[in-house]
Order: sequence, then C-alpha cells, then structure tokens
Amino acid sequence: MNAHSPRNTNESLFARAQKTTPGGVNSPVRAFRSVGGTPRFITKAQGPYFWDAEERRYIDYIGSWGPAIVGHAHPKVVQAVQEAAARGLSFGAPTEGEIDMAEEICKLVPSIEQVRLVSSGTEATMSALRLARGATRRDKIVKFEGCYHGHADSLLVKAGSGLLTFGNPTSSGVPEDFVKHTLVLDYNNTQQLEEAFKAAGNEIACVIVEPVAGNMNLVPATAEFLQTMRRLCTEYGAILIFDEVMSGFRVALGGAQSLYGIAPDLTALGKVIGGGLPVAAFGGRADIMKHLAPLGGVYQAGTLSGNPVAVAAGLTTLRIIQEAGFYERLSAQTRKLADGLGDAARDAGVTFSADTLGGMFGLYFSAAVPTSYAEVMQGDKERFNVFFHAMLDQGVYLAPSAFEAGFVSAQHDDAVIAETLVAARTAFAEIAS
Ligand SMILES: *Cc1c(COP(=O)(O)O)cnc(C)c1O
Repeated sequence: MNAHSPRNTNESLFARAQKTTPGGVNSPVRAFRSVGGTPRFITKAQGPYFWDAEERRYIDYIGSWGPAIVGHAHPKVVQAVQEAAARGLSFGAPTEGEIDMAEEICKLVPSIEQVRLVSSGTEATMSALRLARGATRRDKIVKFEGCYHGHADSLLVKAGSGLLTFGNPTSSGVPEDFVKHTLVLDYNNTQQLEEAFKAAGNEIACVIVEPVAGNMNLVPATAEFLQTMRRLCTEYGAILIFDEVMSGFRVALGGAQSLYGIAPDLTALGKVIGGGLPVAAFGGRADIMKHLAPLGGVYQAGTLSGNPVAVAAGLTTLRIIQEAGFYERLSAQTRKLADGLGDAARDAGVTFSADTLGGMFGLYFSAAVPTSYAEVMQGDKERFNVFFHAMLDQGVYLAPSAFEAGFVSAQHDDAVIAETLVAARTAFAEIAS
C-alpha cells in the first residue's frame, strides 16, 4: 500500500490518530494546541524540507527539535544506518561502536571523562540526578524556572516547553513528596542563587541548568550567573549538571560549556548526538561516574542503551559536524535568518526581536530579547500565533509554540533563507494590518 495515499489529509489522519492515541500525538507540543489548527502529518524529509500527507513541502525550522543538524536524511547518515541495520538491530551485549561513540563525546566535550549512553534526554537527566544524589548522599536539587529537563517526576516543577504552553505549573500525577526536594529558582538571578546556597548549600546534591535555555524560547544564561553557579557548587560540594540535551553540538561543537569556558561536573546530552535516532548520554568527572552500577551503588540500565543502529546514526552525525567550517557556516546562516526577520518586522512596523546562538534561534514578539522566564511570558503570544499560521500557509514550518526555540540545519542555504524571508514579509504585513 502506498504510504502517501492521496486520500489522506492532515485532517483525516488527525481524526484517526485521536481515536487510538491521546490527543492524536506521541508528544504534546506536536498537537498544535498552543497555536490552534491541525497538525501536519509528515511523510518524508530531505535536507531542509519535509512534506506532509497532502504532499505540501515545508521549510523545516524544528529539525526534529534539534537532531537534524546536518539536514534530513543526510546520505552518509542514512548509509551508516542501513549498514548497521543489516548487521543486526540490537544485541543486548556491548559493541565497538559504543566505544567509538564514547571516545568521540569525551574528545569533543573535555569535561566529560566518562560517559554512559541512554535512549532519551529524559533518561539522561533523570540518571544524572540520581547519580548526583548517590555520589553526594544529599537529596535536595536546584532547578530554574523555564528550564525543561525532560519529564522525570522530580523535575516537573513549573517545567517549561509543553507544560508552559498549557499553563500548568506542575503535572498532575506527581506526588508532592517527589518534588519537595526540588528548589525552583529564577533563571539568570545570581543573587537568589547565592541566597539559596547560603540557606541550604550543604544539603544541595546538585544544580541542574540549561546553560542556554531552549525550552522557554531561546534565553542564554549570563556568564556571571553560570560562573557564580560553578563557584557555589564547588564551595558547597554540590554537583553542577549542565543539561546540554538541546545546546550540545548545537550552539557550538563543544556545547554551551565551550562558549562560556565553564566545566560542569556532569553533562546531559541528547538530540544531536542521536542524529535523529534515540541516543542520549550523561557523563562527566570519572570520580563521580564510578558511582554508577556495575562499579558503584547507583543503579542505571537500559535494554536499548547504545543500540547499534542508533549509535551508527549518532556517530556519523558527530563526524559530519566536525568538518571544517561547519559551525561558522551554520551560525552565519542562522544569523542571516534572524537579521532578515528583524528587518522584515521593522519594515512592517511590528514589535519584534530575534536572537541566535550557533544553529539555534529565538523569535520574540517583544521589543527586547528576554533574559528570564517572566520576560518570556510577557511576549505577545497572539501575534506569534498569527505569524506561525501565516508562515505555515506559505510552506514554512516553525515550532508550533511561542515558547520554543528554532533550529537551522547545514542544508538551509541562502535560497532557503531567502524564501523564508519572503514569506515573513507577508506574515508581518498580516500582523500589522
Ligand atoms: C529535549 C530536552 C530534554 C528531554 O529529552 P527527550 O529526549 O525529549 O526526553 C531534556 N533537556 C533538554 C534541555 C531538552 O531540550
């Protein structure tokens, strides 16, 4: 049967999906709840584009929420996956590819001396937290409002992303007892952080942070905020965890930690390191990692961890992004997009700002780039929604929420950016009218 049957429409597929899947989607933000309308059902993707069930082509600015950094269906990645698949899909026993992957990660992110592979970012942060608690024998953890670290119970405390969109402060189903050790502080508020450590520093197992926040739109940390965090963690014997599931290999080859020149004790990775297949990882100081089973008492495991097909996709992606000039070009293209959008908004008289870091961008319907969750919340969500749909109608697919960052791939060339900017002029004009 033809998977691209012309009888399928996005509407008919969405109706069908809702019968057997809650909300018709397997991850909430895909449902378009925040922007309204019918989600697009994707049939194929190539380079900077994907196509929906109605055979409409879109320029894709989510790139699977980050992983598609080399462009969709890159021939080298596809070939590596096909060859790995032909050798067997999963063994439940170690492979050389996992060593190659670990060596590559340790080389690219020097604060990582040892690493363990898992299958999702959620697993990576959840395991890093358990490890931090096990290694310090402390319970309390610190997170920041607007940062999203996956959906582990103790982290769903005013978490960002999908939850932000739905306006829920926490998820139901998480017992109060599970989050009573989680301290939620304001992002980029150095003074508050100092106060928290002064009050309870000796009980804090770890601080977990997105060094470049990408789940409340794009909000980079200030250097002072991260430097203070590093100093306080060292002073009080707490473990500093950088959640670089999104920023890792996205804002720079060495992640946000290379841009800020700060070495965390542990790092969580995901998204790009799987190249589109389920690979994530957590790693860091060897003296902390040695607490993990089978060496130590902190239990952590996974049937599909280090899966050979997924590792082949990830490893090939990590090799492509090391090609000379990759990040210079990616950053330049992303900048071109943001600058062009800024120009188009100004010409239309629409209050707007944009920011980029590496291959990541933020669009804000506010006069200035926000620096905190509270400021992000002040952006004009209605205007974003009009913009989103005007762009979608013209074949440009942005993240379907005002609270998500956007992603550019190495395949977004000048022609693709130019086509996007033509669409943006029409979209801003619609907002202005
Ligand atoms: C996406 C993301 C996660 C969760 O990763 P999943 O693979 O979706 O479980 C965790 N932290 C950050 C910063 C992310 O962007």
